Amino acid sequence: MRVAVIGAGISGLACAFRLAERGADVAVFDRASRTGGVIASAARNGFLFEFGPQSFQTTAALKDLIRAAGLAEECDRAPARSPRYVYAAGRLRPVPMGPQILVAGSLLGLGARLRLWRDLAGDSRPPDREESLAEFVRRKFGSEVLDRLAGPFVSGIYAGDPERLGLRDTFPDLYRWEKEDRSVLRGAMKAMRARKDKDAGKPRPSFLALRRGNASLLDALSAKLGDRVHLGASVESVSRSDASSQAGFQLAVTSSAGAETFCADSVVIAAPADSAARMLSGLAPSAAERLASIEYAPVAVVGTGYRREQVRRSLEGFGFLVARGESRKLLGTVWMSSLFPGRAPEGQVNLASFVGGATDPATTELPEEEIAAIVERELAEILEIRGAATERSVWVHRRALPQYNIGHRARIAEVRAELQRIPDLHLVGNYLDGPSTGVCVETAFLAADLILAQKPEVSVGATL
Ligand SMILES: Cc1cc2nc3c(=O)[nH]c(=O)nc-3n(C[C@H](O)[C@H](O)[C@H](O)COP(=O)(O)OP(=O)(O)OC[C@H]3O[C@@H](n4cnc5c(N)ncnc54)[C@H](O)[C@@H]3O)c2cc1C
Repeated sequence: MRVAVIGAGISGLACAFRLAERGADVAVFDRASRTGGVIASAARNGFLFEFGPQSFQTTAALKDLIRAAGLAEECDRAPARSPRYVYAAGRLRPVPMGPQILVAGSLLGLGARLRLWRDLAGDSRPPDREESLAEFVRRKFGSEVLDRLAGPFVSGIYAGDPERLGLRDTFPDLYRWEKEDRSVLRGAMKAMRARKDKDAGKPRPSFLALRRGNASLLDALSAKLGDRVHLGASVESVSRSDASSQAGFQLAVTSSAGAETFCADSVVIAAPADSAARMLSGLAPSAAERLASIEYAPVAVVGTGYRREQVRRSLEGFGFLVARGESRKLLGTVWMSSLFPGRAPEGQVNLASFVGGATDPATTELPEEEIAAIVERELAEILEIRGAATERSVWVHRRALPQYNIGHRARIAEVRAELQRIPDLHLVGNYLDGPSTGVCVETAFLAADLILAQKPEVSVGATL
């Protein structure tokens, strides 16, 4: 059995690796000249910069993949309970952890805290219509919680606009807790207790990063897949080999060698939604139309280095996010050298900053030097930095993250329902079940396992 995997980001490589490991004949195509998709790392003058995810929250699937890639010994874990900050009303304010939010800290005023208490003691129900995340937070907790907590938090995950992100599309648990427990906080506390019991004795989930850069995971997978990976090979369309039959696919592939056709028994599309839409416009036109309507937000990632003594503010912690309405371009900054070793030369610090997102796409269109200058200016003010950065590096993702706007999950359910009539065609990627790397790997493994289960002729045994 031949499986074509289109896209060599984490979703495509995780799926291809699992298939190849279990005996399938796999070919991976990516239009870029490198693997990794949005995951990219670069070593520069003693700094190690990440331009995609700075770290991953561990899931069982991601841990398995890292182990199978031979990198288990190369994982560094961020210190547990590193303090996080929100920049609001001109200064960094610690984010109280867990139930502390009800009583402590300067992030939320008394009015906002009273709204939290009112939810804890109260009885509310979600409205029948779909709410945006902003509508939900404003209705339940008021604008301060939206501006200082929920807004910055979603810009950290989705680079999204809370006025457009759907509550049920992004945080379905919040909706469920209000619906079932009549209080978001009571529901959250119940879920926390249940998780505590379930996870008793297990290590706390933590954030990890790979010592030689997160892209080293993709490099290791790609090396194991060897000449099964074809770079600079853009898939233009996926069609049936024989229009009248329900078996076999034909991929139209363009590369520097020209246009070629590749035949496969199964196809996994691990490219972003807009690319998937173009490939499927002939085979599944209405699914393609829905996929094409998924919006992506652009993000620019700026890695900067400073000598430690240039920075007056303590950098103990994870980093900070910026509250809504602060008139800042920065979405947030991760203090990478405070979390992981080997990110900066001795005596220097490495800060990873993000600008753009769905609420400010225009900033990502500026020349890279201007983006770097904006970030340095704002970092200097917020972290009290004197003098210029000793190192800087900018990476612009034009289509960084899919937006789980209102109706997104319903649209994905329709796409999946439609594609069920095309057996052996699978979608994987960050626009389906969640944007995090760990979830992408889970979705990729599920697709691989489905293919392996449906094709008994695949020999099950390690072939990598
Ligand atoms: C700035 C940023 C920060 C992030 N931070 C975190 C974080 O802290 N934690 C976390 O867990 N996740 C984070 N994420 C999310 C996570 O990194 C992504 O969701 C995940 O890496 C997406 O992987 P993917 O393989 O699904 O897609 P992609 O990485 O987009 O890969 C898709 C691949 O398909 C290829 N392709 C497209 N069209 C074609 C075609 N026609 N033919 C062939 N190939 C094609 C592309 O070249 C690309 O390589 C972040 C993402 C970004 C951008």
